[in-house]
Amino acid sequence: MSRIGIFGGTFNPPHIGHTRLAEHFVKELKLDRLLVIPTYQPPHKSADNLASGEDRINMCMLAFPDAVISTVEMNRGGKSYTYDTLCEIKEQYPGDELFFIVGSDMLLSFNRWYRSEEILDMITLCAADREDDGAELEMPEFLKGKRVIITKLPPFELSSTQIRECVSKGESTQGMLDEAVRFYIDEKGLYR
Ligand code: ATP
Repeated sequence: MSRIGIFGGTFNPPHIGHTRLAEHFVKELKLDRLLVIPTYQPPHKSADNLASGEDRINMCMLAFPDAVISTVEMNRGGKSYTYDTLCEIKEQYPGDELFFIVGSDMLLSFNRWYRSEEILDMITLCAADREDDGAELEMPEFLKGKRVIITKLPPFELSSTQIRECVSKGESTQGMLDEAVRFYIDEKGLYR
């Protein structure tokens, strides 16, 4: 039985906050494999200035060189519901233990996800704080008694939105992105 980490996101673009979070859990939970799953179409937010699926997959390959970049949501198309994705992953990895990695914004809104109860029966939810507000991230009431790990990784405030804004204003994104991703965005003229 392997321990599989699953990290989904829009990754528009993937940034240091993402890689740091995923690497932390790979180490802490001794995961055998990390699946990074770029969303085709996020169900919960508007997709302004969304780079193509191909570009986001390519950037994920550069940002997560040791991970498997899964095209399951890209291939399925439509709104990317995590429940549907996990059903497919369960078929691909029968008998393996699944750890689903999220930042605190996703943890706190988890009860509004499509089929959240069923999702919680399929995975262990692994979360870290992303807001540097001095307060410790607490377990929401609706997750008490479920398989949830809230790690102590100090928050690193950064979002893809911030990066898209920097690029469109011609400001530097140094220290926010893996250098190879930075180069890719520049070469392809993304987010200008
Ligand atoms: P956007 O600004 O476009 O909304 P984002 O930066 O929130 O994007 P997503 O691709 O939507 O990035 O995030 C994928 C996952 O990574 C989510 O679970 C999110 O909570 C988590 N995440 C994103 N940024 C961070 C961060 N800086 N620290 C910890 N987790 C993060």
